[in-house]
Amino acid sequence: MRFIPVIKKIWPRLVLWLLLVHVFTANGKTEEFQVGFGRSKITPTESVWMSGYAGRRQGFQAVLDDLYVQTMAVQDAYGTRALLLRLDVCILRDATVTQICDLIRERTGLIRRQILVNVSHTHSGPAVDELYHYPMSTEHRERLAAYMERLKATCAEAAYAAIQDLSEAHLEYGKGEAHFFHNRRGLDEAGRYTGMMANPENHTDRDVPVLKISGPEGEIRGVVYGVACHCVTLGVNYEISADYAGYARMLLEKEIPHALFVTGCGADANPHSGDDGHKQVQQHGRALADEIKTVLSGPLKRVRGPLQTEFRYVDLPLVSYASRDDIERMRQGPYADIGTTDKLLALLNRGARIPQSYAAPFSVWQFGSDLSWIGLPEEAVSEYVPLLQETLKDKSLWISGYCNDVSGYLPTRTIMKQGGYETRGLISDTEAGWFAPAVESVLLEEVSLMVDEAKVKVGRSRQATMAETFKEFRFEEESPFTNFSVKGVVEKSDRGILLDGESYLEMPHLKLLECKTKGLTVAAWVRPTQACMTENRMIICQWANQIEQDCFGFALDHGRPSVGVGDGIRGEVGFTCDTQLPVDTWTFVATTWFPETRQYRIYIDGKLASTMGAQTGSGLNQRSQVTLKIGAQASEGHPRYFIGGIDDIWIGNGLNPAAIRELYEEQRRRFSKSKAP
Ligand SMILES: [Zn+2]
Repeated sequence: MRFIPVIKKIWPRLVLWLLLVHVFTANGKTEEFQVGFGRSKITPTESVWMSGYAGRRQGFQAVLDDLYVQTMAVQDAYGTRALLLRLDVCILRDATVTQICDLIRERTGLIRRQILVNVSHTHSGPAVDELYHYPMSTEHRERLAAYMERLKATCAEAAYAAIQDLSEAHLEYGKGEAHFFHNRRGLDEAGRYTGMMANPENHTDRDVPVLKISGPEGEIRGVVYGVACHCVTLGVNYEISADYAGYARMLLEKEIPHALFVTGCGADANPHSGDDGHKQVQQHGRALADEIKTVLSGPLKRVRGPLQTEFRYVDLPLVSYASRDDIERMRQGPYADIGTTDKLLALLNRGARIPQSYAAPFSVWQFGSDLSWIGLPEEAVSEYVPLLQETLKDKSLWISGYCNDVSGYLPTRTIMKQGGYETRGLISDTEAGWFAPAVESVLLEEVSLMVDEAKVKVGRSRQATMAETFKEFRFEEESPFTNFSVKGVVEKSDRGILLDGESYLEMPHLKLLECKTKGLTVAAWVRPTQACMTENRMIICQWANQIEQDCFGFALDHGRPSVGVGDGIRGEVGFTCDTQLPVDTWTFVATTWFPETRQYRIYIDGKLASTMGAQTGSGLNQRSQVTLKIGAQASEGHPRYFIGGIDDIWIGNGLNPAAIRELYEEQRRRFSKSKAP
C-alpha cells in the first residue's frame, strides 16, 4: 500500500467561462428557480388586546376575517436560498423577529440574512410586541404573551412548509397602480403640519409591484404584491381583520393558490374611508385584486438569478439634546410626542444616557441584474421611494417598508421640517428617541452600499471561481508516507487507499488561514462499503467533538455526505445531505463553506445535491490543535472509522457550482488517464 501527500501543489488555472452555461443545463431543469409556499392561520382563538389605536378598552369581540402568516422560499440555480415571511400583524420588534429567525434556522438551516420579514400593519390585529403599550389587564397580558409564543413557533412551521414545497418556478415582475388611498398629512400654506387628513396634493407611492411565480406548465403558483398604504380601513373597532389586504388575498386566492401582500412605504398614506368600514374594505380589496389580475395577465419582465441576499443593522442617528429643559419643553406637545418625551425623561431620571442612534435591520434581495428588492425597517414614509430611485439610478427597484423591525415612524428631512405625526420617534415598548434629519442621508447611503454589494456578489457568482489549492493528498504508487503516520493497516486498493474500519492516516493539523477570506472546499473520491453505510464515518477532518478543537469535518452520515465547520466557540450541529451514496462505487463528493454567508453546499459527482445548510457559528477555528486525520476522528472513544476506499483529497478555496463541476471533470480526466478504475 502506498500513497503520497502532495503538498501545496498548484492546481492548474482553469478557464471556466464556457462551463457556466453548463450549470443551468446539466441538471436537466427547465426553470432557473425553485419556489415553495407555506402558510398558517394566526387568528387568535381567545380575545386578546388589539394593536394600532390607543383608545381601545377591551380585547377583540369578533372575527371579520382570518389572519395569516405566509411564507415563500426561493432557491436559485446555485442553491442559494431566501425566505419571505409575511404576517397579518401591526408591528413586530427586532428582538421577536430574531427569535423567530432562530427557530427558522433550527427548522430549515436558513440564517438571518436569508430571511425577509414584513408585517401588513393591520390595525385590526393582536397587539403583538406591545405588552406594555396599552392599558390591558394582567390576564390580557398573559394571554397575549402566550399568543406571541405560539406565533413564533407557527412562523417556523410555515417557513419549513415553504422549504418542503420547493419546486420549479419561473419568476416575472411587473407594476400596477393603486388609487384607493391618499396622503394623510394635512399641511398649511407655509407647509407646516396641521393634522391627519386627506391631502390629495401630497405625495404617495401608487406603485403596486407584482412578482408572478409560475410553474413549468405556465400555471400561476403564487403572487407577491406590494401596496404603500396603512391597513386601517376599518378604523377603531373590535373585529379581527387583515383589512383591505385580507380581502384582496381572499379574492386572488379563488384563482391563485398563494397571494402574499407586502407593505410598502405607506407610513403617510391612509385608505379612503367612509361610513361603512366593512363595505370600504371590500371595495379597496376588490380594486387591488382587479389591478393585480390585470398586471398578471399583461406582459411582464422575466426575473433571473443568481439570487443574493444582504442583511445589515444600520445605526440610524437620533436627535441629541443639549439639556433636560429641551426635553421638558417638548412635553408641552403636540400630544403624539408625549410618549417619547416621557421615555427620555425616564432615562435621565435613572441616570442613563439618551441613545444617539438606533440599530435598524435592513434587507436587500438582488435577483441577477433584473430586480433589487429593498426591505426598509420601520414605518417608512412614501418619499423614500423617489429618494432611493434617484440615489440608486435604477428602475428595477421594489422598495418595501415595515420590514424586519417596526418600532416607529421613519420620516424624511422634509417631513421632519413640516413636523407632525410621522415624526413622533420610536414609539414601542423599549427604545426612546426621535430620528435626526441625518437619518435620510444615512439610509440612502447604506441602502446604496447594500445594493451595490449585492450586485457585485451576483456578478462574482456568475463568474466562475479559480480553484486555488491549499492541500492535496494523492495516493500514488511509488511515494512514501510524507508527513503521515499510518495507524493500523492501510491497504492500497485498485485506486487510492482501503480502510478497514480500524485504521486511518494522521498528520499534524493544517493551518487553513486562507479560508478566512477565500472559503473552503473539501473534495474526495470515496467508495464506501455496505458496512460504512451505518453511523457517522469520517472521510477527512480536524475534528474532535470538543467545541474549542473542532475545525472542519467531512464525513458520511449513514452513507450521506455530511459536513461541519467549527468556529471554536459554538458547538456545530453539522449538515447532512439528503442523498445516500451508492455502495462499492467510486463517487466524487465535495463540500463548500463560505465565511461570508456561512453556507454549506454538498455536491455529488459535480452536481449540487438537493439540500444546503448553514454553519451554526461563524468563521473557521484556527486555534484547533487537533491532528488531521483521513478515515477517522480525533476523539478517543469515538473514532468514526471509515470503511472502504478513499482517493485524491483536494482542499482549496470556496468554489461556486461551475468551478466544482470543472474540478470534478478535471478529476475524472485524471483518473481515466492514470488509473482507470
Ligand atoms: Zn402606522
